[in-house]
Amino acid sequence: MKDIKKFLINLKNKFLDELFPENFSCYNCSKEIILPNRYYLCEDCSSEIKPIMYPCKICGDELNSFTKLCDNCKNYKRYFDYVKSVTTYDNVAKDLVLKLKYGDCAYIAKIIGYYLSEEFLKGKYDLIDLVICVPITKEKLKSRGYNQTEIILKEFVKYYNLDYNLECLTCVNKLANQTLLTKKERFENLKNTFMFTNTIDIKNKNILVIDDVITTGSTLNAIAKVLKENGAKKVFGLTFCHTKIN
Ligand SMILES: [Zn+2]
Ligand SMILES: [Zn+2]
Repeated sequence: MKDIKKFLINLKNKFLDELFPENFSCYNCSKEIILPNRYYLCEDCSSEIKPIMYPCKICGDELNSFTKLCDNCKNYKRYFDYVKSVTTYDNVAKDLVLKLKYGDCAYIAKIIGYYLSEEFLKGKYDLIDLVICVPITKEKLKSRGYNQTEIILKEFVKYYNLDYNLECLTCVNKLANQTLLTKKERFENLKNTFMFTNTIDIKNKNILVIDDVITTGSTLNAIAKVLKENGAKKVFGLTFCHTKIN
């Protein structure tokens, strides 16, 4: 009995050592962390990641008050049912996303996955049958070496043991550079960009789509449309950041 206890304590310590190695430093600013936390960030950096106070009831965009819906959700048809984001796309959160996307820092997905796991509990989600992520084009995959939303998804699902699928959608057209387009163009630009591969049955399923950043919601809208055309019941989104566009 004593031996088993000793074995378990050793195992736990080994696990903790791996989780919080000695000389642990902040994933964002590299400052040494005295008391490691599960965000892998120092106190200064984690305090910069602030929740969205007045989110739009559909897309989660930050509003100035308890106005229920943002202009995009009022003016355009939304195929997704509900999206929630951890924080706005600025400061530390923006640095983390940029490092993950362009800085060859795949380990950042651990932090984002953890933040998503906490945010998920606070959201108004129905029971989720399947988790997917936003696919990227072959060209982007080749230059980046990985799809950042895929590794975020893998970190996120660890917490809830949810079913996930990485092949049910493909990105069939090269996306034009979103930032150079007007709002209307952004909505139109994504038509027919995502395709359902028919490799899984999604009929009557509630699907959660993981993304790093949501801006106008046009990407998620295009994905939700495709999923619903193929039988999905409800489509939800969970993202790390929400870009403030208004
Ligand atoms: Zn830091
Ligand atoms: Zn909205």
